[in-house]
Amino acid sequence: MYTKISAKDKEVCLIDKDYPNQAVNTPIYQNSIFHFNTVDDYLLYKNREIKAFCYTRGNNPTTEVLEDKLAKLDGGESCRVFSSGMGAITATLFALLTSGDHVLVINDIYGPTREYLSVLSKFGIGFDVISATDTKNLEFFIKENTRVIYTESPGTMTFDVVDLRLIASIAKTRGVYTVIDNTCMTPLLQKPLLLGFDIAVYSLSKYTGGHSDVLAGAVVGSREILAKIDKEGYKLGGSVISPNDAFLLLRGLRTLPSRLETLTLITSEVVTYLQKNEKVKNILHPLAYNDTDLELYQAQTTGITSLLSLQLVTTDTKKIKMFIDSLKTFSIAVSWGGYENLVMVQDVLEFTKAHSDKIIIRLALGLFDASTIIADLEQAFNQIEGK
Ligand SMILES: *Cc1c(COP(=O)(O)O)cnc(C)c1O
Repeated sequence: MYTKISAKDKEVCLIDKDYPNQAVNTPIYQNSIFHFNTVDDYLLYKNREIKAFCYTRGNNPTTEVLEDKLAKLDGGESCRVFSSGMGAITATLFALLTSGDHVLVINDIYGPTREYLSVLSKFGIGFDVISATDTKNLEFFIKENTRVIYTESPGTMTFDVVDLRLIASIAKTRGVYTVIDNTCMTPLLQKPLLLGFDIAVYSLSKYTGGHSDVLAGAVVGSREILAKIDKEGYKLGGSVISPNDAFLLLRGLRTLPSRLETLTLITSEVVTYLQKNEKVKNILHPLAYNDTDLELYQAQTTGITSLLSLQLVTTDTKKIKMFIDSLKTFSIAVSWGGYENLVMVQDVLEFTKAHSDKIIIRLALGLFDASTIIADLEQAFNQIEGK
């Protein structure tokens, strides 16, 4: 399975408009304010009769170029870019939900998003989480007061796939908004709006930034939904991206297609190596799916990501730690999507035990040669003998 990114998407990532002075890069409008020539101009702007820039906690020319590109890549009408992925996610949920509403979460989602949903209980907003396999009985889990279905596919850490077309079509008949965190696929590998989803949310801090040097998030959807998120979540919520960071993301976008294509080749080689390794019990990644999941995955995506999880055969937590600590080209760090190899675990309590079969090790592969990554994994596996 190879990553296919369309020529059209590559153009959107690469080509910019004609800028003043024949600049080839988007100018960074490092301004909080923009001025008006007359009171009448200001009044026309306020009455939406002319388009103008006023204040960066609203609109900024550099940010707008990024938003236009992201909307296009997703096939959406409108996009807003935030100062972090969580800024984008919380603004979206805040704008869509009212006290008394219910959120149905499908699949393993990003931990802090789940925490935020718990915080919303103080406004009487409840949520339930169902697994990818429960999607078959989705009708049953949608309540009278369910306002939002929120999912991630493949899911964080476990990488289970869910049927996005099915979820979108059932949600439509029940008048429920559908939101997907599409961070790990980017709009280049999966376009949820074209599969029927209302809203795609992103952390741009990962693949889009691509160099572990910027925090940002985005929301893409219809003009109507984005108008609400823009007002309640963006302008009033205030987690606005700086123009300088918007520039870094425009630069990241230029190489995003090439990086994803290269990472596909690296990931395929590494997964093939891991599948043959007898110290590995389980690989969680689309390339290791069963046939049914693979068919579903291929029907809604055009490629794979370089994130994967592993379970080792050994359950000895000391040996699991030894394996991770022995990795030389992998840094132990949260986040992913940069140039580097990263490794992370999330099962903190499991490490307090002498043995655990629940520990999942997540690898984020970077842009090293596959042979370097494989040699590193091999020497780390050699540090742990037997069970
Ligand atoms: C990192 C991440 C987020 C949060 O994004 P920030 O930019 O760190 O706020 C949300 N969802 C997923 C899947 C992520 O990996």
